[in-house]
Amino acid sequence: MRGGRRYRLLRGIVSLLVLRYLAEGEECGYGLRRRISGVLGEALPPGYIYVILKSLRGRGLLDAREGSRNGRRVVYYRITDSGMDFLLRHRGAVEAGRRAIEELTRFLEGRGGESARGDRDRHQTYWRRGARCAVPAGSPGRCAICGRPAAVRVPYANASFCEEHYPQWLERRIRRVADRYGMFDGVRRVAVAVSGGKDSVSLLHALAGLRGDYGFEVVGIHLDLGIGEYSRASAEAARRNFEMLGVEGRIVDLRARYGFSVPEAVRAVRRPACSTCGVVKRYALEEAAEDAGADALATGHNLDDVAQFVMMGYQSGDLEGLARLRPVIPAGRHYGVRSVKPLFLIYERDLAEYARIRGLPVAGAECPLRDRTSQGFIRRKLLEIEEGMPGFMLRLVQEFADGVQPALAERYLREEDVGTCRICGRPTSKGREICSFCAIRARALGTGVAPGATG
Ligand code: AMP
Ligand code: ZN
Ligand code: ZN
Repeated sequence: MRGGRRYRLLRGIVSLLVLRYLAEGEECGYGLRRRISGVLGEALPPGYIYVILKSLRGRGLLDAREGSRNGRRVVYYRITDSGMDFLLRHRGAVEAGRRAIEELTRFLEGRGGESARGDRDRHQTYWRRGARCAVPAGSPGRCAICGRPAAVRVPYANASFCEEHYPQWLERRIRRVADRYGMFDGVRRVAVAVSGGKDSVSLLHALAGLRGDYGFEVVGIHLDLGIGEYSRASAEAARRNFEMLGVEGRIVDLRARYGFSVPEAVRAVRRPACSTCGVVKRYALEEAAEDAGADALATGHNLDDVAQFVMMGYQSGDLEGLARLRPVIPAGRHYGVRSVKPLFLIYERDLAEYARIRGLPVAGAECPLRDRTSQGFIRRKLLEIEEGMPGFMLRLVQEFADGVQPALAERYLREEDVGTCRICGRPTSKGREICSFCAIRARALGTGVAPGATG
């Protein structure tokens, strides 16, 4: 880490922080270094704090006394009366400093979003670290756009926003991601898969808000999976959002359309519920999007979801699965609809805030069929890493999408490996005659299918 200039800039602030912690009763250099490193989000260089302590002592702002602990010589520091005076007199300067840093952050944040990728990454890493001292951890501070008191803090961007500007910021960010990956190039009608949960509901509202910019129509699609009260509440939330926006909404009842519900499929197939349900949803959504005359299908998979898939794929070495994990899957031989994930670089937390601030009606319940697996554990651990290293998941997924996945795709995604389902004509994985959906459906309906046909 080459932080010479950065630490020169921070020196006055670190000095005031030293006095602040001393005033609170902290007395050892080690504790000061640990607490201030915590505020800055990275370890101060060793020795840095001692240089500052020495200088403050030379100015009479603190005094030091030698003692011993467990037979080791230690130095205890204490703030003096003039140190206390000095700290209190800096109130105005701190206030001015905060405004100045917000101003700079605003500029750098704008730059962060617009410049080319390599460039931007370098800038962002730099300012993210350097400016963190401006905003006390966990407090929203002021809106980066208008300067009014903020309602939401976005740690990885080191910025805060008020209730008015937060939704605008998030929608712009979604738009930037979509544009960067060409998600809506040439698209005239987008089908949004709305489960009723906060992610897909937020996606629906964000894309409805961008209709004018892109010139596309939006149609909402909800699948009624037939999971009792859970499905009823989900469908209700989806319907309310379609009405609220006045967009065309379609509710597809799985049982009416394919003859079976998700619980029936899960009972009939010996594999984890979420994986069976995932195959069924994917298939039914693509078909519903085609029926709706859409040229793109947008799902609400968020950054946390994708980060979790990436980690699970690494752990199990599922290179083909990782090769297929993309923000944009082009329309192909078997499907006339492009598949896009406009939220794949948006944190789940940011979407929850968006839904909350805009007061969107969402269904909050967890699916009762959800299997307890290692997935939840990985997700929690990722959030823990994120807390200590804001932006970690974003880099993980962005580097995956821009570097790792394309390399894997070259090796593992070959169009000639894709077969055609003998029942429905949709794609099958290598060597299979029947697609996963038709195999599940045959089991659920009890019509039977050759052993080993399940994908
Ligand atoms: P999940 O597989 O539950 O994590 O959901 C991922 C995405 O699939 C959601 O954000 C939605 O876009 C879509 N989705 C899930 N369930 C449904 C549903 N019942 N109806 C429509 N779309 C859904
Ligand atoms: Zn604002
Ligand atoms: Zn099939």
